[in-house]
Amino acid sequence: MIGAQDQSYPEIREAVRRLCADFPGDYWQRLDRDRAYPTEFVRALTEAGFLSVLIPEAYGGSGLGLQAATAVLEEIHRSGCNGGACHAQMYTMGTVLKHGSPVQKQKYLPKVASGEIRLQAFGVTEPTAGTDTTRIRTFAKRVGDTYVVNGQKIWISRAEHSDLMVLLCRTTPREECAKPSDGMSVLLVDMREAVGKGLTIRPIRTMLNHATTELFFDDLEVPAENLVGEEGKGFRYILSGMNAERVLIASECIGDGRFFIDRAAAYAKDRSVFGRPIAENQGVQFPIARAHVQLSAAAEMVDKAARMFDEGLPCGTEANMAKMLASEASWYAADMCVQTHGGFGFAEEYDIERKFRETRLYQVAPISTNLILSHVATHVLGLPKSF
Ligand SMILES: Cc1cc2nc3c(=O)[nH]c(=O)nc-3n(C[C@H](O)[C@H](O)[C@H](O)COP(=O)(O)OP(=O)(O)OC[C@H]3O[C@@H](n4cnc5c(N)ncnc54)[C@H](O)[C@@H]3O)c2cc1C
Repeated sequence: MIGAQDQSYPEIREAVRRLCADFPGDYWQRLDRDRAYPTEFVRALTEAGFLSVLIPEAYGGSGLGLQAATAVLEEIHRSGCNGGACHAQMYTMGTVLKHGSPVQKQKYLPKVASGEIRLQAFGVTEPTAGTDTTRIRTFAKRVGDTYVVNGQKIWISRAEHSDLMVLLCRTTPREECAKPSDGMSVLLVDMREAVGKGLTIRPIRTMLNHATTELFFDDLEVPAENLVGEEGKGFRYILSGMNAERVLIASECIGDGRFFIDRAAAYAKDRSVFGRPIAENQGVQFPIARAHVQLSAAAEMVDKAARMFDEGLPCGTEANMAKMLASEASWYAADMCVQTHGGFGFAEEYDIERKFRETRLYQVAPISTNLILSHVATHVLGLPKSF
């Protein structure tokens, strides 16, 4: 059967599966209809300690690596749940952990580990810059002990459900920098103080239930002590956190893919048409088998990238390749699963159409497939740059 290779961290996987069993399909269907946030699910994961696995023990986390975190997210998604509402609580703190001051770490990390502080929002994308992050225009001007922030962000997920946001903004105009990636800085924005005092959050309704928003900054004042690391070096700090994000999202895709394969195999054995189970037709079997082959290969790459990350090796290329392969494998599995279910693939109560919509996101966010191919073409294969 499916999944002989996904046996790392069996106790964690089993515990996550047990927790997820309390949040069955009708829970997610209801939230999906109302575009509501899965507060109870996120609370349960927080209380069980699953969202703090990457935080060192010294700050109250479990001090495990990315491989353990991928096991958590994969099982959440395989169970039909969705980690998109809270996966950022796992990795956004990496910017503070790696680049924050000792005071910032002490102030925030223990509370992020306990869940007292939700660090779920990560503000990079802007409407006019798109993937070309060096063209962001949100500007933080230093005035005494304060940064005054003006600008706009888009697609900032979970902003309404987060106490802190890691915000990337310009502190020097692009034209005045030696390199386009210079002159950007990371600020920790306390959302509890900012909303209504210079920060406006506007939810965006999307094809999936993802709590994503648009943000407007209008003379928002952020204490200068909330600068992470050195002014002007923020782009590097953000990049260093992106590998973890890509590997973790890839593991969600692996979980989604396994969900689709599990469901398709079970349904095909159960559903009889023309007097026999549809699973007896190779035209039905082969797409399920192909989904399994593709997903297994992608899972190997996710494991490799996570292992390299945990060993402190450079893994930008592997993290990108893992995300691309896993998001494409889960999408193929999603399409296969709808087809295997025939008309029932479209019925809300089967959860297939919901997961189909959810897994489609990951070929676009957090980085789109073309940008990954461009990275591989230019950085790995030495082909000429196109932009
Ligand atoms: C639901 C959702 C949640 C998100 N959450 C967050 C978040 O929490 N924080 C955050 O900062 N961002 C978030 N994002 C933004 C996400 O990271 C971006 O949407 C994604 O990186 C793609 O950027 P873009 O939408 O600006 O596309 P664009 O950059 O406008 O690109 C559009 C298309 O053109 C292609 N393209 C662009 N340039 C090239 C090129 N040179 N060569 C070939 N192809 C190219 C891209 O691959 C893409 O397919 C979220 C997005 C969504 C939809």
